[in-house]
Amino acid sequence: MRWLACELHTHTVHSDGRQTLQELGNGAARLGFDCLALTDHNTMSGLADKQIVEQSAGIFILPGMEWTTFHGHMVTIGLDDYVDWREAQPANIHDGVAAVHRHGGLAGLAHPFRIGSPACTGCYWEYAVQDWNDFDYIEVWSGTFAPIKTDNSRAFSLWTDKLNEGHRIAATSGRDWHEQADTEEPISVTYLGVKNETTIDTEQAVAALRQGRVSVTIGPLVNLEVISAAQVYGLGSIVPAGEGAVTAQVSIDCTVRSGLWALPHPDYHLILISNKGVIADYPLGSSDGLLELQAELPRDGLIWMRAELRGIVRGIRTMVAFTNPVYFE
Ligand SMILES: [Zn+2]
Ligand SMILES: [Zn+2]
Repeated sequence: MRWLACELHTHTVHSDGRQTLQELGNGAARLGFDCLALTDHNTMSGLADKQIVEQSAGIFILPGMEWTTFHGHMVTIGLDDYVDWREAQPANIHDGVAAVHRHGGLAGLAHPFRIGSPACTGCYWEYAVQDWNDFDYIEVWSGTFAPIKTDNSRAFSLWTDKLNEGHRIAATSGRDWHEQADTEEPISVTYLGVKNETTIDTEQAVAALRQGRVSVTIGPLVNLEVISAAQVYGLGSIVPAGEGAVTAQVSIDCTVRSGLWALPHPDYHLILISNKGVIADYPLGSSDGLLELQAELPRDGLIWMRAELRGIVRGIRTMVAFTNPVYFE
């Protein structure tokens, strides 16, 4: 498995961004990203320069578009063509999602609890959702230093509620990146687990996000595997029904994007959390390398399990990273 460092929410001068795709590509490459999704508001015209920028910046560009409407913003990724957003009405968003899926794309809620009009037109999600399984992901971390923002906490809680209800839905971060301005705030990375180690393509990235092979962080890359009956199940997998205990195996790789982030004295805790709440909490201190741990846990009543890394960032105890879940039948 190769973990692609992705930035999944960006804008250029083709909508309200103040950067060209070339400037965006160069900036993302400098920050250690392997891949970015171009998600301009209601247009895909910026993708005309995709191949030139991919080659010169050395970064893969996923096609996308942010549906920007009065009733909410919806990020779409991996489409093979433009899908018309103008029919979207409060009660029919599932028609739009179906059209995105027909074009091979994925649909996610963008920053669902960001303050809406008049501060930001349509930024607050108001679409009626009849079936959460229809959505591929929720952007639970938006902007820089995302884990401390209250609108993101609400989005994260929404995601957890949906998991508890039995839905299998991915969670991502997105900077909603509009310009090449330096920031002192930690930047989030969404890591997508792809099977092909050497080449990147849209199909693989889409498959990873659709299946929930996703880990989100402002620092180390956290991975969770569950071992049951001698089989290993990765992020997004479903552990078949069974009795007894399972083994959770967690790795925390502090060497990713080396030199491009720093969390001094984080005093990490690794937490395993499920539909039953916190099921394990391990103090880890600080590390520059690879941390690994294993825990045997009863599987009674488990619907999902994820790993969360918490620590001290800029004097604030906060979430540093989280995995998408492993699910249980
Ligand atoms: Zn938006
Ligand atoms: Zn946006």
